[in-house]
This record gives sequence, structure tokens and C-alpha cells, in this order.
Amino acid sequence: MKKITVVFSCVLMFSNFLISTTLEERINNLSKTEMQSIVEFLGDDLLEGRAPGARGGNLAELYIRSLFKFMNLDPAFTNGYLQPFKLKGFILKELSVNAAGIDLTYPEDVVGSFPREETQFQLEAGAIFVGFGIATPLWNWDDFKNVDVKNKIIIARVNDPGMFIPGIFEGKVLTYFGRWMYHVEEAARRGAAGILLIHTDESAGYDWNVVKNSWSGEEPYLEADLNNNLKLRAWIKESCLRKILESRKINLDKLYEKSLKRSFKPIDLGFTIKVKGKNSFRDLTNNNVVAIIPGQSEKKIVISAHIDHLGMSAGKDGTNIYNGAIDNGSAVAAMMLTAKILKEFQKDLYYTVVVLACNAEESGLLGTKYFVRNTPAPDRANIIADINFEATPVWGKTSDFMAIGGQFSTLEDMLKIILEKEGLTYSYFSLVNQGFFYRSDQFPFARYNIPAIWISAGENDDSGEKKYTRFWKTDYHSVRDDFDPQWELEGMKQTVKMTLLLIDHLNKTKEIPRWKSKLIFPLEKMMNDE
Ligand SMILES: [Zn+2]
Repeated sequence: MKKITVVFSCVLMFSNFLISTTLEERINNLSKTEMQSIVEFLGDDLLEGRAPGARGGNLAELYIRSLFKFMNLDPAFTNGYLQPFKLKGFILKELSVNAAGIDLTYPEDVVGSFPREETQFQLEAGAIFVGFGIATPLWNWDDFKNVDVKNKIIIARVNDPGMFIPGIFEGKVLTYFGRWMYHVEEAARRGAAGILLIHTDESAGYDWNVVKNSWSGEEPYLEADLNNNLKLRAWIKESCLRKILESRKINLDKLYEKSLKRSFKPIDLGFTIKVKGKNSFRDLTNNNVVAIIPGQSEKKIVISAHIDHLGMSAGKDGTNIYNGAIDNGSAVAAMMLTAKILKEFQKDLYYTVVVLACNAEESGLLGTKYFVRNTPAPDRANIIADINFEATPVWGKTSDFMAIGGQFSTLEDMLKIILEKEGLTYSYFSLVNQGFFYRSDQFPFARYNIPAIWISAGENDDSGEKKYTRFWKTDYHSVRDDFDPQWELEGMKQTVKMTLLLIDHLNKTKEIPRWKSKLIFPLEKMMNDE
């Protein structure tokens, strides 16, 4: 009898120990092997760069779905974890452009896409210069002044006036209105037949080769984004445009000067642009992979990370595989570890957590766009925040921590409290001219009025190095983004920890994050209402 009592009390003690493991202890015990496992797999050559709709991309979906099952997470949909969405992929085979009688060479002078299901296409339209092609009440700026640009090919500058005039827009900090994607959206909204974006290294932030490479492969689109009149979406080298305009005695610098004034109005250039070419196209089906960890409330926090990357391309010495181990293997690992621990501590969850492994981010945030758009409005209203992981740092500890987009919402204030307790400083990403907030999966949430951040360990390694900053300058979107078993993964651990502490803070306080500053991007609602 006595013996049994001893054994019993030992079991009790042991189980008490398990129950009393705190969230912090659990996080601190995250092992390097546990953190390595997912990023090592996703970054392997066998995944072939995880392009959406390709074998490697499908394998990544399958892998995440299996892990969700293994972790015992509930499927987000009645029929499972997968949210299929259709894309139309277009590959430009030939393009010839003639403007004012001058032939442009593809892809040296002009690149682009013609997303129409036409193997041979043709377009002829009048050219109109629209300045930056920006219309927003935020800085009381309207380049269009109700001038009808329907069925025209508009020629627009990229970036925003803040780059050229201090004290307007956000100065040198790139706003969403300066991104090429916004210029294309605005052109589509106004019924233009085409858009030619003027390329300079300075205004685009990258040289012509980057434009050429990123517009040379397959361009996938969501079907909903093709329901408009905008057929040609293209870039033109500034020097070529200058030549064309000079042949018509128009001075480009004078046009630029006018475009910096609030009084600017679109200028009809008095010539036509003729476009001809060949396309191939196909239907692609991809999946977002989505799980749910129910809390007590119907209100939800989404954690997200994209599983796709750039796939493969033909290189000089064979095939290049873009493994995307950091972009976005490490971020998926950070999200999965966060989900795993949340599941272990599910009893403490007030808010329900949605785990969104989204797809086709590299093609323009398409998976997240689809997810947010297709969440019924009442459910969408229940999403209180999105916490996104993108290219999570994989090196040693950092002394600082970041929330890209934090300045817009009270998520930043909550995070600052947590960081102070942890002895970390809060910092802003040094690469502010890159518009990162608009370039990853937090952004579609923000455009639907949901406070959203991209959470990440910072740029200041304790070792004194700046490995994260270097990654963005040298290895990002290159074949060098490979898995390395030497990574300390302390940055990943910090990212997981701060995310869990932030979610824990939200659960304990039952706070609902809100915007706290002027939003310098258009909300989806505003876009549709106008
Ligand atoms: Zn990415």
C-alpha cells in the first residue's frame, strides 16, 4: 500500500511539473532541431523553389497540411484545410511596340504583360501623360482632374511626388501610391486600355535588369483582377520615351516639372501607340492551407506566412533553383512553431487563432488577397489583427525588434511594452524606401481595415553584424537564399517568442487593436466606393 502511494505521488508530481510549464519556459526550451526541421525541408532542392501550381509548390502545400494534422489543428473549412483558388498564368512570347512611328525593342526598351486569353494580340490607342497617375484625398492630390482616360494608353511616372518635393506625401519614405502596383490598379479603375510605367533606376528603386527579369516569366493573375479594360501593363525605359517625345518636339523634363504641381492635368501627347504580340496562357489552381485553433471568443487573430517562392529558371550552368530558405521557409517555420505552442496552451486562448499558410505571394500577394476578399464580411469583421511572418532572421540574437507597419496601429504600443520587459529595443526597418509594408501578406488585411504587422527580430545582431540588412541587399530573390545548418536560429526564436507574448497580451487584456495614425494607403472599401 505504502509503495503504491509513493508511485502515485511521483506521477502526480511529474504531471504537476508538466502542467505548470509556463509559456515562457516552453519558448525558451525551443530546440535548434525543432526550429531547423521545417526550414530545412522547405529550402531543399527537391522542393524546386515552390512555385505556385508547380510540383514543388504542391509538395509544400501537402507538407503544411500534414503538419497541421500532426499538430492536431482543426481545419479552417468544412471540407478541410485547403482553400483552392484559380489563377490565370500568362507568358509573353513576343511583343512589338511602335510609339509615334518609332519602334521599341523588346525587352531592351519595353517589357510587360498582356493578360488576355489571346494567343495573338493587338492594341492601338492614343497616348496620354498622367504625371504620377495618383488620385488621393490623403494629401489632396489628383493627377486626373476628371479627365477621361478611358481606352487610352496612359504613361505614368513611378514613385510619388514626395521623392522630389520635400514635405509632401511622406518625403523619401515610399508610400503605397508610389508603388507600380498602385499605378496599375488606378489605370484599371479608370478604364485605360494600357499603362506604360516610366523606368528610371532612381524612381523604381532598381535597375532595368530587375524589371526585365521579373516581367519575363509567367505572370499569374486572380480572375477577379482581370475584369477590367486594362490590357497592356508595361514598363518603358526613360531614355526611349525621351527619344519618342523629342521626335514630337515634346520635352520630357517639362512634363516632369508640370507633374510636380497640384494643378497638373493629364496631357494628351497627340500620337498613338501600336502594340502587337503573342501570348501563351493556362489555368493554375493553388491552395492556401489554413488551420484554426479555437479560443473562447469568435474574434480571431490571424497569423500568416507565404509558402511559395520563385521556382526555377534556366541558368548558364543548368537549372537555377530559387530555394527561398529565408524567403519564406524560415518565416513558415516561425509561424508553425508559434501555432504548435499556441495549441499546447490552447486552454489560455481567449481569441481564436487562424493559421494561414498562404500561397502565390511572390506573384502579388494573391493568396492572401483571395483569402481576405473571400472571407464573408461578418467573419472578416471578427478578425482583429494579422501578424505576418516574412523572411524571418535566422542568425544570432539581436538587440532590437521590428514590427513593419507598426506605426499605424496600437499593435506597436503593445509590442513596445513586451519588448521593454524583454530588454529589447524597438526599431524601424532601415530600408524605408523599399515600401516593405505593402509588399507582404499583412497588406491585404490592412487594406480591409484590419490592423496588421509583419513581425521580426531586428537588424542589430549582438555580434555587431547586420546580417538581415545584408540579406535584403545581396541574397534576397537570388539563388543564394539557401538553407545553412550553421544558422543559430536565435532570431527565429526571438520572433516566435515576441509573437507568442503579443498574442498572450491580447488574450489577457482582451484588447482589440485599432489604427492610431493616418493610413497612407487606400482602403479596399474606398477603392470600391469611388
Ligand atoms: Zn517573401
